[in-house]
Amino acid sequence: MRPVKKGTSPVHGDFAKYEDAKTDLVGRLGSYCSYCERRIPTLLAVEHIEPKKGLWGKPELEKRWSNFLLACTNCNSCKGDDRVNLRRLIFPDRDNTFDAYSYEADGNVHLSSHLTKRQKVMARNTLRLVGLDKPVQIYLDSNDEQVALDRVAQRMEAFGVAHEALTLFEAEPDSMGLKTSIKRTALATGFFSIWMKVFETIPEMKLIFIQSFAGTELSGCFDMGSGNVLTPAPNPDGMDLGGKI
Ligand SMILES: [Zn+2]
Repeated sequence: MRPVKKGTSPVHGDFAKYEDAKTDLVGRLGSYCSYCERRIPTLLAVEHIEPKKGLWGKPELEKRWSNFLLACTNCNSCKGDDRVNLRRLIFPDRDNTFDAYSYEADGNVHLSSHLTKRQKVMARNTLRLVGLDKPVQIYLDSNDEQVALDRVAQRMEAFGVAHEALTLFEAEPDSMGLKTSIKRTALATGFFSIWMKVFETIPEMKLIFIQSFAGTELSGCFDMGSGNVLTPAPNPDGMDLGGKI
């Protein structure tokens, strides 16, 4: 899960409508779901980290920048109005969510083995909250029709695209044109963590991905010499309860 820095709020006080924050969020984070990392060109929604309604809702945070990320329909509907206890969950604008998970070529997402017991609990809670541990997820589309989304198959497909790119890179490691083309393919495909995994032994390409996906380098979660992960997250926006991983 790609860690990001949102930066300070583009407005004084709260937004008039939370939907108004979408353009700024897309500008700073790119058109990607903050949880599943898919590229969502049109149906991306402003996501409330802490729910705006329901039993655990915090209506006072409905229009507040600090409570926003971007999410796709199915991560959003999976998370719903569930309770969000920031002490027990990790989020990409607070924590080094990249270091927390390991993406496998079979399409599964596991907890990183080096996490402490407490960090594993938090990382697992977040995985379950947004449903990334589910192989197939049923959600309602904009017409209230049930749609099944095979998350595992989508990640496997992204692995396939990234592996093809790696094969081309290995044949021509000095081609500037090829590097640019791989960068464009990664941005168009999404799944930042999968690109980082496939190119994990090639610092040059990792740095290109970190610099190209908006908001990632600014997260401070990567060493910009080696592309290696830096933990815990420096929490550059000073988010409440950040830097747990
Ligand atoms: Zn998503």
